[in-house]
Amino acid sequence: MDKRDYYETLNLSRDAGDDDIKRAYRKLAMQYHPDRNPGNKEAEDKFKEASEAYEVLRDSEKRQIYDQYGHEGLQGTGFRGFSGFDDIFSSFGDIFEDFFSFGSGGRRRNRPVQGNSLRYNMEITLEEAYSGKEEVIEFKKWGRCETCDGSGVTPGSEPQVCSTCRGNGQVVRSQGFFQIKTPCPSCNGSGRIIKDPCKACSGRGKVQVERSINLKIPPGVDTGSQLRLRGEGEAGELGGPPGDLFVVIHVSDHNLFKREGDHLYCEIPISFVQAALGDKITIPVIGAEDGYEMEIPKGAQPGDIISIPEMGMPGINSRKRGQLLVKLNVLIPKKLNSKQQELLEEFAKTEGIDRKKKKRKLFG
Ligand SMILES: [Zn+2]
Ligand SMILES: [Zn+2]
Repeated sequence: MDKRDYYETLNLSRDAGDDDIKRAYRKLAMQYHPDRNPGNKEAEDKFKEASEAYEVLRDSEKRQIYDQYGHEGLQGTGFRGFSGFDDIFSSFGDIFEDFFSFGSGGRRRNRPVQGNSLRYNMEITLEEAYSGKEEVIEFKKWGRCETCDGSGVTPGSEPQVCSTCRGNGQVVRSQGFFQIKTPCPSCNGSGRIIKDPCKACSGRGKVQVERSINLKIPPGVDTGSQLRLRGEGEAGELGGPPGDLFVVIHVSDHNLFKREGDHLYCEIPISFVQAALGDKITIPVIGAEDGYEMEIPKGAQPGDIISIPEMGMPGINSRKRGQLLVKLNVLIPKKLNSKQQELLEEFAKTEGIDRKKKKRKLFG
């Protein structure tokens, strides 16, 4: 196989200085590092190729031989390049440590970490959603240990820097082709060793606490509404802030009203006489015990929807209320008493319907 020119591989001119070489290699190594390109054969080859070029050009003796005699010249010295990543990492391990200190094996764990956020599910009625609600909720969580103020250390003593990872919280090891950073086993990634753990929390810095909060649910919430209570989640670690508490609302179904956004919808049964003549009726509404007096217009039709402004749900972000939409469900009597029968027969005649005729015209 023809080897590429080392200068070409690193994109360098023949007179490149040591810093240029290092910079050029760093750029390619970052790009093709196996941790960033797992399972990518092409990246693997490029990485090896760049590493070999760097290995030669950074060494003034090898570089000189290469400049004079090319690849053959180096072979004469016994130089074979690299067999695999293990080779590369053991040769340039210190450089990779430097290059990849931003962490290819996950975030450093000895930094402050925010506590977990919690979710609290709450079921409320439509009436409660309408008027808002105050309720004391109780739950358990990991809260900050007050004895040690979350440090996990007995008050008066100090945690010590872990000697295994020198406080980094990570150790670097090679596994096959890969160089992997893993949480330090001595300190569990925290970077510190607690010799004298706080007795109240066994060194965790957190304890199980019962929390009760007086929750104010604003009017207008709907299923899926979330109330965020900042800082009411679990305690953070290593001085990190606590998480938040999310109260997730579920509004239960109502037997009369359906909700569509801020509008309320219901069906009201009326008699066909009320529909024909018009009427005033009192319907139940949310938010008014005595109900609401609404007018059925003369000649109302089955399925007509009467909209009553400002009688729907309050808007959660506005003062505007939705509408109440009332669908008229016109009932036809299934039985008539004799008086009603008589009156309707009379009524039929006024409409030109003669029910005694044997053959009736369907229309007109
Ligand atoms: Zn404690
Ligand atoms: Zn450690």
